Amino acid sequence: MAWYLVPAGAKKNNEAARNRKNTLENKYFIAPLMNELEDEIQEILRFAEQDEYVYIWGAKTGPVNERTWSKLTQGDKVIFYAEESYAYLGVILATTRSKEIAEKIWPSDTTNFEFIYFMTDVQRIDISAEAFNAEFGYPKGPQGFQPIALQRIEVVSNKFGSIEQSIEYMANKSLEISEINLITAKEEAGFQDEVDNQKINKVIEDNLPREIPPKTNTGNKNGQNKRDPERAKSAILLNDYKCEFNLSHETFINRKGKPYMEAHHLVPMSAQKTFSYSLDVTVNIVSLCPNCHRAIHLGNSAVKERIIEKLFTKDRKRNLKKCGINITTEELILKYT
Ligand SMILES: [Zn+2]
Ligand SMILES: [Zn+2]
Repeated sequence: MAWYLVPAGAKKNNEAARNRKNTLENKYFIAPLMNELEDEIQEILRFAEQDEYVYIWGAKTGPVNERTWSKLTQGDKVIFYAEESYAYLGVILATTRSKEIAEKIWPSDTTNFEFIYFMTDVQRIDISAEAFNAEFGYPKGPQGFQPIALQRIEVVSNKFGSIEQSIEYMANKSLEISEINLITAKEEAGFQDEVDNQKINKVIEDNLPREIPPKTNTGNKNGQNKRDPERAKSAILLNDYKCEFNLSHETFINRKGKPYMEAHHLVPMSAQKTFSYSLDVTVNIVSLCPNCHRAIHLGNSAVKERIIEKLFTKDRKRNLKKCGINITTEELILKYT
């Protein structure tokens, strides 16, 4: 997952303070606007149980902001700078672009904040700009709306263990960021049942880049990006119903008389936006026992890293490349943090 910095009223400013109070400090009552949002967004907010009250922020129109905003992906983390300190941390749920909705959410502000994003787990961190900038190697002053560069993340992670831990250290408090992993795991649960029941005529093996299939509309239980149960089932068949983390892991015999295994997208589907070709290809799907599958989603960073490193073999890396998916181990691990 990527990290972003957001200026949210760098200098004392009543308008910005009011906006922060209404949609960052407190959740905004979104229920009356739900019908104006795309079906997909409604679904994500319902899924995250944020369909009545939700944290929201928006970026001003402009090409640089648009480029940054368009990369925001579910699970990405956002750090807000306000009045001389890094004040809040939030986790992205979904984004939407709408001038009309922005005007309703921030009615007293004349600025156009149409690049909207919805968040969960927004919390105060209150880290002085000096302390934060020193650790992350930024020059003085607030930064614009931008991703935190990978090199900076690496430096800080090496020193503190993770960005979260650096924030906990600097803010001197523990963070609550668990919900998003639970959402992903919850989202996938329905898909596993579909995969387990999937009949298959021919195993699908992808060795060419696959175009990104169009997103599904309403009623899609599997989140933002469509997953093909036949490909998932193919991955399990190709691995002979074994857990790829450890071939000796036993599960139980399912209704079809086969060992029960789950399909997991190693490069997470939530990262689709940052790739030009579909992540839903057989080579990106691993067969895991339910225990390892929960662990890769819900384990601590050491647990996740150990599983990812084992699964991300040289062969897999090469095969992913053939499908137009280029990613290093370090980048992959970051997608899980
Ligand atoms: Zn999974
Ligand atoms: Zn296992």
